[in-house]
Amino acid sequence: MYSKYLTIVNNLICPSFCPSLLFDSHYNIRNEKTMPRKLEMLLKGGHVIDPANGIDGVVDVGVLDGRIARVEADISPADAHRVIDVGNLVVVPGLLDIHVHTYHTRGRQSGGMVGSLNADAHFLKEGVTTCVDTGTAGAEEFEHFRETVIDHSKTRMFAYVNIAAPGMGPPEQVVANLDPQRAAEMAAAHDEVCVGIKTAHYWTTKPFDDEHPPWASVDAAVEAGERCKMPVMVDFWPRPPERSYPDLILKHLRPGDIHTHVFARQFPVVDEDGEVYDYMHEARDRGIHFDLGHGAASFWYRAAMPAIADGFPPDSISTDLHMGNINGHVHSMLDTMSKCLAMNMSLQEVIYRSTVTPASAIRRPELGTLTPGSEADIAVLGVLEGNFYFRDCGWACIEARHRLECALTLCAGEVVWDRHGMTCPHLQEVPPEAEYWHLPEQQATSPIPRLWRTEA
Ligand SMILES: [Zn+2]
Repeated sequence: MYSKYLTIVNNLICPSFCPSLLFDSHYNIRNEKTMPRKLEMLLKGGHVIDPANGIDGVVDVGVLDGRIARVEADISPADAHRVIDVGNLVVVPGLLDIHVHTYHTRGRQSGGMVGSLNADAHFLKEGVTTCVDTGTAGAEEFEHFRETVIDHSKTRMFAYVNIAAPGMGPPEQVVANLDPQRAAEMAAAHDEVCVGIKTAHYWTTKPFDDEHPPWASVDAAVEAGERCKMPVMVDFWPRPPERSYPDLILKHLRPGDIHTHVFARQFPVVDEDGEVYDYMHEARDRGIHFDLGHGAASFWYRAAMPAIADGFPPDSISTDLHMGNINGHVHSMLDTMSKCLAMNMSLQEVIYRSTVTPASAIRRPELGTLTPGSEADIAVLGVLEGNFYFRDCGWACIEARHRLECALTLCAGEVVWDRHGMTCPHLQEVPPEAEYWHLPEQQATSPIPRLWRTEA
């Protein structure tokens, strides 16, 4: 069934990416406490890429009690209740998308941005098990956002609090709304789900004046970040000389702060010869995190391709998905990752920058790994080979030989996406005595099992 995926993985391996990624056939982690019990699920024969643990090779993964229990070469099928053949597929930690918009219960009466997505409907099928809403809600609406969305999401959901108390939209232009104390207090009060402060869209065209100082939004967000001891994510428009990009990443942001949309058209990332400016390297060296943040207008090959070719890949890959771009140009996390493959990043590097580095950026290093003991968030990916085209935000296309597809997603050990029915028996293998074959009239019916149920 998956022969179409075969051999492609090997073509994408780039051994020079990271020495620690060399697969050690003796790699063998056992949790002695769980060994005597049978695994609930065994993903067998897949090519595991788990950059956090330096694994890159054919390894089996066992799940028990919703956690990764064993990661070993050749686990016996007899050790598991359920064996899933994932041969020819790539098994990776559940992906993290740290720039999305998911406050879909937000009302229009706020006057702010609507068009957020239901994370469970759109992200699990892409292998994304953790997402971060980036500042759709400010302090005024954050509790409503948490009560109506975050606390009910199967997708692990975190959030940045918008520095503008009324949240994303026109109120971001009113300096009086930029309230560091209020944003910091809200983030700190919800620090199980808040991972930072967001500033965006501030004063991009009109002249600066006394009521609109150039750095009001960035500096307020950084002050809030200082107060709550969290990073800041910045959506920015440079307007030199008053507000230059080098000043943002070298002076105003702190180590650990995140510049999203790094390959948007407005950023001077590469010079006329296609070489990355020195200040980019200087900023990265001082700890600034550069996030891709594709978005409706913020990913351009003309910046990304020369930067990557010159050794400056994005620190993390993210989508900025919302209703305004999911049908184009972004589509999905896996299409964004496929674009990175098309720009000659190796598969290992693409996985690394969709798991380990975003987890680090939101200070949740326990996510994005297959470390035994961690919650079993797993994406099983196919690497399709063919003639594909991927576009950027300037309506330019590039061709690609590969496209990633998600075959199976586990969230805390639960199957939440199974594209090809891998967890189902073939029709011909359903036992004759199984309820499957019975007409409902012939006996009391039991509920049809589903992958998972929602309240609605
Ligand atoms: Zn956004």
